[in-house]
Amino acid sequence: MLASIRGTVRYQELLSFHTSLRIGGPADIFVEPLDVNDIRQALDHAKSECLPVAILGSGNNVLARDRRIQSVVLKLEGCLGRAEFRGDEVVAGAGVTLSSLIREATAINLGGIECLAGIPATIGGALAMNAGTPDGAIGDFVTAIYFLHADGKLGEFKPIYGRFTYQEFALPAGAIIIGCRLRMTRRPLAEIQKDLKARMKTRKALNPLALASAGPVWKNPPGEEAGRLIEKVGLKGKKLGGAEIYAKNPNFIVNRGNATADDVLALMETTRERVQAQFGITLEQKIRIIGE
Ligand SMILES: Cc1cc2nc3c(=O)[nH]c(=O)nc-3n(C[C@H](O)[C@H](O)[C@H](O)COP(=O)(O)OP(=O)(O)OC[C@H]3O[C@@H](n4cnc5c(N)ncnc54)[C@H](O)[C@@H]3O)c2cc1C
Repeated sequence: MLASIRGTVRYQELLSFHTSLRIGGPADIFVEPLDVNDIRQALDHAKSECLPVAILGSGNNVLARDRRIQSVVLKLEGCLGRAEFRGDEVVAGAGVTLSSLIREATAINLGGIECLAGIPATIGGALAMNAGTPDGAIGDFVTAIYFLHADGKLGEFKPIYGRFTYQEFALPAGAIIIGCRLRMTRRPLAEIQKDLKARMKTRKALNPLALASAGPVWKNPPGEEAGRLIEKVGLKGKKLGGAEIYAKNPNFIVNRGNATADDVLALMETTRERVQAQFGITLEQKIRIIGE
């Protein structure tokens, strides 16, 4: 099964090469599929070897553990990487990056999804996390999602109320998103560009763009901001090994060079405990963990 994959198959591939935090131990089997058939082959192999499957988009919101990861890891960035514009809609593959989609759409006066600008993501990863900002999330624009069930059968989902919630999408268990259809809005080019520029300026001020991070670590509790709570419990700038709670935006943990997953997990545990003790609020993790 692995032998018939047209994309890349690697063994003991360090996930630190594939996560924005630059952390992660070796995955037993690491596949960069070329197409849906490759994904099916990898799923069949995992099933026959009783191995768990882990999906990576661009790895911008995952913490991969330090030790051996006994899984088949599929990295979809670049695979299914085409976007096709049809009227005011776009049909995009799971591996298309949000940045390239926004760039291509802007060039033909299609906007509407500017609120997603600057979120580093593939379409698949953005949908799986219902990525967004206070101004809107990707789920607001979805008219269809295409996915592969764990048994390799194709599925389609039309949005219904409740499937997309804050930073979540209720995907059938084991399913892999392969693409979607998004509704966009025709806008004058200059308006879209002005909007994008303003958003990128804010993002540059708040996000540690020059440092390795995995984006927001925690979901914002209802009516609260996780970063504000972390600051109030005095953990802004707290370091452990090579990991650090980013002082400018405490909902981020950055890797100062030699951080391990254990460092990050320990900082998260301290944060969770302090916020719980001081405010009685249980922080809910946004970042997804790969590995046992
Ligand atoms: C500097 C920075 C800023 C960020 N700002 C924001 C922000 O403003 N808003 C926000 O929401 N997020 C933000 N993030 C987090 C991150 O960009 C988003 O969560 C994004 O959606 C992750 O996409 P990805 O392709 O990298 O997915 P990954 O991180 O690779 O994966 C995330 C999850 O999605 C699953 N997944 C990925 N692809 C698929 C697929 N095809 N099918 C099924 N499951 C899949 C993975 O298994 C994993 O559980 C930021 C991250 C960074 C580093």
